[in-house]
Amino acid sequence: PYKGPLADEVLAKRKNYLGPSLFYYYEKPLNIVEGKMQYLFDDTGKRYLDAFAGVVTVSCGHCHPAVLDAIMEQSKLLQHATTIYLHHAIADYAEALASKMPRNLKVVYFVNSGTEANELAMLMARLQSGNLNMIALRNSYHGGSSNTLGLTALSTWKYPIPQGEIHHVLNPNPYRGVFGSDASRYASDVQDHIDHGTSGKVAGFIAETIQGAGGAVELAPGYLKLVYEIVRKAGGVCIADEVQTGFGRTGSHYWGFETQGVIPDIVTMAKCGQCCSLHNKFAELIAIPTTKLISVPDDPLAAIGDDIEQDRGYRVEDKGGRGAGLKVRTEKPLALPDEEEGDDIEQDRGYRVEDKGGRGAGLKVRTEKPLALPDEEENENFQGIGNGLPLGAVVTTPEIASVMAQKIQFNTFGGNPVCSAGGLEVLRVLDNEKRQKHCAEVGSHLIGRLRELQQRHEIIGDVRGRGLMVGIEFVTDRKEKTPAKAETAVLLEKLRELGVLVGKGGLHANVFRIKPPMCFTKDDADFLVDALDYAVSKL
Ligand code: PMP
Repeated sequence: PYKGPLADEVLAKRKNYLGPSLFYYYEKPLNIVEGKMQYLFDDTGKRYLDAFAGVVTVSCGHCHPAVLDAIMEQSKLLQHATTIYLHHAIADYAEALASKMPRNLKVVYFVNSGTEANELAMLMARLQSGNLNMIALRNSYHGGSSNTLGLTALSTWKYPIPQGEIHHVLNPNPYRGVFGSDASRYASDVQDHIDHGTSGKVAGFIAETIQGAGGAVELAPGYLKLVYEIVRKAGGVCIADEVQTGFGRTGSHYWGFETQGVIPDIVTMAKCGQCCSLHNKFAELIAIPTTKLISVPDDPLAAIGDDIEQDRGYRVEDKGGRGAGLKVRTEKPLALPDEEEGDDIEQDRGYRVEDKGGRGAGLKVRTEKPLALPDEEENENFQGIGNGLPLGAVVTTPEIASVMAQKIQFNTFGGNPVCSAGGLEVLRVLDNEKRQKHCAEVGSHLIGRLRELQQRHEIIGDVRGRGLMVGIEFVTDRKEKTPAKAETAVLLEKLRELGVLVGKGGLHANVFRIKPPMCFTKDDADFLVDALDYAVSKL
């Protein structure tokens, strides 16, 4: 059991000592103390299905032994010396990252965050073109520094300071945009801005390939191809912000820009080192699998353990895991009362009677799969090691890199041995575990099920996305597309109660962002959709 400070104490300290601009989700903020694969645990031991991955950061799950090993092994040898000396880790990682890029995108700069990556990209664009004007999309998020706040186009984030020489063009949002999915009309708006708001020359254009904070908005098909052509004609370079969409998350492609059939001049990314997932064997030992929600008993007062079909052995049990309080009918008849917990009931095959009710509910069921042998006990190295390497990168062409060479470009922590070793291992894990294909399969299942739900619930105005980058937009009126802001906030709280954490986004905070760790399974998707179905039905 967790023995550290509880939520109230942490919140009080945070209020006293951290800036008031920090925000948190939930009326009673969650104190998350542990993460394993696609699960997070709070200070009471309650388990949550994490469908937001620390703001789309933990790519393949919380705490992967291979990544942890790589980080730990490197930490023991050398943590930091900077790039004034040689070290193989940064070189190996740069080589591996470049190998994932098309054509001549082969020169890598390491930084520490997405904001820094976009700052550097903007500098490159201005130096390469000799112009200042940048073009960005409305509804975008590119960072929190002065320059990148200029690129960002969501009033919630913008401080009223000079953010110079930025033009925000119409967002090619197929659901809300004035031109629907007509990419060419949105592209004309870019030409208009160049013609009427600049000297006719620009430094560059930047876009997320699916907007993240803006609410999982996929750009109208064909848009980037048209705009890249316009921008290059005006002397500018094209930047793809892959902070959220990269590394196979979209399922169909490794990079988001590939979904639009373009090749940028500069690609920015971050969060790529923050992926950790547990070995499946370990996951089985520590986590009760997220199980398909079979039926929520009509009687909301039904208590955990109630016999609901006694003659057939079904009971109400807590399937939210560790006290999440989601009541479902057990999938299989329960073990007979005379079988004691821990009894070997099919000893040779490893099945035992176990407590499936979570935390003392005392429900005895036969284990679904054979239990691990004692020598497969959890490795204590996997416990309690935080992950979240600060790591960002900019990849560009030798031509643009040569312009940067007129001065020294230095970043003290960028690409330090520990982050590079972790980042390289992340790339390997994503390949070895075939996460891109997995995202495609689980994502299309999730989107399909959400579209079914949309047919039954008027409040779901739009379901969109690709792979495990999914948005659900809630509206109070489908025709007017009136943002259902208050209802979205209620649903967020309700899902949390049911043991599911999702992200919220969009200018009107009426979009759920489903961007889980890439180890998220079809069962998890079903659990999320069923919980959402239940939550909406209770609105
Ligand atoms: N670009 C995009 C698309 C982002 O979503 C974010 C942050 N979520 C950033 C840039 C900035 O990244 P960071 O918070 O690491 O500075």
